[in-house]
Amino acid sequence: MKTLKDADDLVRAGLIDREDIPKTTSISQTYSIGVTSQVIDTIKNSSFDDAIYKQYIPDVRELDSTDNETPDPIGDHAHEVTKGLIHRYPDRVLFKITPTCAVYCRFCFRREMVGRGKDALTAADIEAALDYIADTPQIREVILSGGDPLILSPRRLNEVISRLENIPHISLIRFHTRVPVAKPDLISQDLLHALTTSKQMIFVLHINHAQELNHATITALKSLRKHGTVLSQSVLLKGVNDNIEALKSLFIALTDIGVQPYYLHHPDKAQGTAHFRLTIQEGRALYKALRGQLSGYALPHYVLDIPDGYGKVPLNGDWIAPHGDGGYTVTDIHGKTHRYYD
Ligand code: SF4
Repeated sequence: MKTLKDADDLVRAGLIDREDIPKTTSISQTYSIGVTSQVIDTIKNSSFDDAIYKQYIPDVRELDSTDNETPDPIGDHAHEVTKGLIHRYPDRVLFKITPTCAVYCRFCFRREMVGRGKDALTAADIEAALDYIADTPQIREVILSGGDPLILSPRRLNEVISRLENIPHISLIRFHTRVPVAKPDLISQDLLHALTTSKQMIFVLHINHAQELNHATITALKSLRKHGTVLSQSVLLKGVNDNIEALKSLFIALTDIGVQPYYLHHPDKAQGTAHFRLTIQEGRALYKALRGQLSGYALPHYVLDIPDGYGKVPLNGDWIAPHGDGGYTVTDIHGKTHRYYD
């Protein structure tokens, strides 16, 4: 079955009611819809459990934006050195090589930049980014992201990998991807062949619930493991995985198949996503409770991307302290402090 892209598709697949067409159409005019056959199966196998359904099916609350939400919640633009290339930390760059994904998550932190019809990079933009990487010796790691880099054709992926292969100071290529969960059949032999490089490779899988790990996903992850390290990143989402059992099951299931839980993200303040956000206090309480229930290697780092581009910090220790006015003081990696309010 082809990917569902609009309200009529969702009605035909039995995922929304006919009376929801106007509001769903209205949402899709701002934020793309993408539901693959793999995700439809996962939703149906979960008996329409909110944990899966809410991640992919539009909700009318997406049309409401709160005052503290922004189109660029983690401040990509503040660190954009060439179009699509973000140089936020000294030794690595994030290369947003495509604005397209296999699916469109309703809580996406880059939802204003990611989607069908969004501004794609031209061949000249890609050249400019690769030139910057080649001319900047302190960069040792290139993170291919987007969008989702693994939806590119094997030929296009190979062109980029081959260029990076020839840059001596690059030792690591990292991929941020949801493809093994959303469209695992894209992890084909051709794609794996296109990823051939002498550089170290790390694949970071975006996954939020253990029910997203089915046979096809596990098979795709096993294939990727033959080419590099596989880590996971998850977003802590209200109504999806904001309970001990869901988080514990996810992290145990991942370690059982050789995927190392890496990050648990506090949800970013992307526009129209307030219904997914927990408070920092709620998130920290969950994380504290998890610590006693999981081996250290199964517990990811619980992190906050400080709004406006100040980088990622752990939500524990000296990095964050409550402030008298109900907010927090968060210290970034340069020792600079920022105020944060839920
Ligand atoms: S896969 Fe990632 S970039 Fe794509 S829609 Fe989901 S959260 Fe956004």
